[in-house]
Amino acid sequence: MDAIALTQQLVQFDTRNPPGREDVCARFLDGILRDAGFEVTSHAFAEGRTSLIARGPGAASRAPLCLSAHLDTVPLGEAAWERDPLAGTIEGDRLYGRGASDMKSGLAAMVSAACAFGPHPDMCLVLTAGEENGCEGARFLAEQGVLPLPMGALVVGEPTANVPLVGHKGVLWLEIEVAGRTAHGSTPELGDNAVNKAARLIRKLETFQFEGAPHPVLGGPTLNVGTIRGGLNINSVPDRALIGVDIRTVPGMPHAAIIEAVARCSDDAIIITPLADMASVATDPAHEWIQQVFDVVAMHTGQRAFPQGAAYFTDAAALRSVGHPPPTVILGPGEPSQAHQTDEFVMLPRIDEATAIYARLIRSWCAHGA
Ligand SMILES: [Zn+2]
Repeated sequence: MDAIALTQQLVQFDTRNPPGREDVCARFLDGILRDAGFEVTSHAFAEGRTSLIARGPGAASRAPLCLSAHLDTVPLGEAAWERDPLAGTIEGDRLYGRGASDMKSGLAAMVSAACAFGPHPDMCLVLTAGEENGCEGARFLAEQGVLPLPMGALVVGEPTANVPLVGHKGVLWLEIEVAGRTAHGSTPELGDNAVNKAARLIRKLETFQFEGAPHPVLGGPTLNVGTIRGGLNINSVPDRALIGVDIRTVPGMPHAAIIEAVARCSDDAIIITPLADMASVATDPAHEWIQQVFDVVAMHTGQRAFPQGAAYFTDAAALRSVGHPPPTVILGPGEPSQAHQTDEFVMLPRIDEATAIYARLIRSWCAHGA
């Protein structure tokens, strides 16, 4: 099965999220994988929002290598496209379309490599719906207890231009509600100003100190106050203010402890609600399998990787949230600069390169079973 032709076919499925509608694309892949001899199970977290898990039949001799890709894409955006975003048009060495880089090319390369090798119980595919809206599909698979656990190793095919990345920061988005008491704006002494309280809290957050050391690969954590809303009209004392905080974390920083530390920044009663909470992902670059991935990539691309992380977060955080976290790389043929762009494209040679890399990783994993 040709991975480039498959990328083109996958781009032609409209899986823009919202609303997603991954089901039709999932059924198409289900057919391909079943025909190749895989056992496939479908798991929908909502109507039409189907994820797939495919694995070879028989008894495994070791924890499986999991290749994971998401089926959905982001919407088209406001700007007009020059190419049909759902056609998968090929011009020169580029294939255009929404999801070409993020990440239907990665999906196609994984399915193609897996089918070429053939079904094997030591290898599985985890193809998820709803990634772009907070990893809903992957979280559902973890919650349902249907993931093949423990995983031996995990490859997530997000766009990296075939550069292996050993992790990414975690995400903790907090909505902080500050309460006050309203009064007429001409008599502020009779009220309790929620905006003033929020402002005092923001001043403290500006110099927020994280506990723990920066990570050798991912760097240090960050905190940004992204939004503030408060007050109904200019002549009232505001009785409510909302602050939105975007925190990016590195390993060794439990999110619960960070929430407690944020709460301690305010002397006032505040309510903190996490809007997103995804752990960081990091594997020691010295890990034997990671070094093997670096070797395989160097063999196919001529470039020896150095330890680095991704700027974005991935399904890996959700897929690793249950069981013992497997060594993980983010590695896919898409161009990272093309993710979510107008006239998104993928370079055709990268698709073949990724297919060859995945195939070699599958071969050597399955060859080293007991
Ligand atoms: Zn993606």
